[in-house]
Amino acid sequence: MESEPLRPSKVARAAGTAASVPVEACQVCGHEPLNAVLSLGYMPPVNQMVAIGTVAYQQPWFPTKLLHCPNCDLVQLGLAVDPAIIFPPEYPYTSGTTKLLRDNFAELQREAASMLGLGSDDLVVDIGSNDGTLLANFKAAGHRALGIEPTDVGDIANGRGIPTIKRYFGIDAAREVKREHGAARVVTAANCFAHIEDVHAIVDGIVEMLGPDGVFISESHYLIGLIDTLQYDTIYHEHLRYYSLASLKHLLEMHELEVFHARPIPSHGGSIRVYAARRGTRTVQESVRRMLAAEPRGDALAKRLAEFKRDVMLSKLRLLSLLRELKEKGARIAGISAPSRASTLVNYVGLDEAIIDYVCEVPGSLKIGKYMPGTQIPVVDETRLFADQPDAAVIFSWHIADELAPKLRAKGFRGRLITPLPAPRVL
Ligand SMILES: [Zn+2]
Repeated sequence: MESEPLRPSKVARAAGTAASVPVEACQVCGHEPLNAVLSLGYMPPVNQMVAIGTVAYQQPWFPTKLLHCPNCDLVQLGLAVDPAIIFPPEYPYTSGTTKLLRDNFAELQREAASMLGLGSDDLVVDIGSNDGTLLANFKAAGHRALGIEPTDVGDIANGRGIPTIKRYFGIDAAREVKREHGAARVVTAANCFAHIEDVHAIVDGIVEMLGPDGVFISESHYLIGLIDTLQYDTIYHEHLRYYSLASLKHLLEMHELEVFHARPIPSHGGSIRVYAARRGTRTVQESVRRMLAAEPRGDALAKRLAEFKRDVMLSKLRLLSLLRELKEKGARIAGISAPSRASTLVNYVGLDEAIIDYVCEVPGSLKIGKYMPGTQIPVVDETRLFADQPDAAVIFSWHIADELAPKLRAKGFRGRLITPLPAPRVL
């Protein structure tokens, strides 16, 4: 790879524009032009959910063109939307509601504590700390925990005793943390490393907070798994970048951070957990070489992405075909759970309130009482499913169908259960 400027100056910034800007040069290495992978059409912001009964009004829709950087292999969205639009203060996502995520974060703490030998004085900072689910594990183990979270979900964390600074993360926030709490032994960023527009500013902030023996642990949705299991539904505007280990390593190396351990984890249908430290401070483990060797790069990745494009299109037609058969027999169809990814699936496939009567969420979900983005499909309390017994239900959280299906049966749902991806099928 040839030498390159540390900051791709050509990348326009959407923050503060109240609109969006096209991504014309790679957000990590600055290379242009970028190669088109696929488009899922125009999508509404997944977290601007309108209350049921609201008269339909004008809403923004944004194109979803996916691009591949032939220089550093980063796959990225072709449009950056102002974070004020995609992360409104009433952002309804809470990580504590998913058992798989809770279990993963508990396991992350155990792995990090044993691998790094964490002491009770050690400071652990979580960026995009959400409701404090990850940090609760570090706090329970006796470490000093500090969250940084820009949305109101941070109030939940503060309410449960996880100190959380409510602001966007960047170099200023990092300096404030270091000044008031000292250097961090561990910085974590779970599933938010793809979200923040100026990725170099985040890594700058992370490096600023890390002590000399500090370790940065990131969890990101994994591009290769995304391709292999056809998770096009994780493509939406919150996710600006889709990392392979190679492209993540490239980014971190631009900031003198060295990846020393990496492994796949089940979160969000397939993610990678990556450990990095200041260059030369830790022994690089065999796991890094092994994962890198298994990843397609360059032309091989481009070829895989072309196949992905075709498979995504076929998957849409197959799901519609399955639903058409049910609808021709007069079936009533519900949806199970309304994660962000359901918005992409519903809008790309073209599901609407004529096809899906309602989508169920577990009691307590902040999405109940709202419409699915881009549609007038209401999101309701799941008790309705058991009283109503529709003929079929599409599991939009299909990546945790193994966890959900037995629960739905145990609670008495008798209709057919359908998973839309990776191949549409009746369970
Ligand atoms: Zn690049």
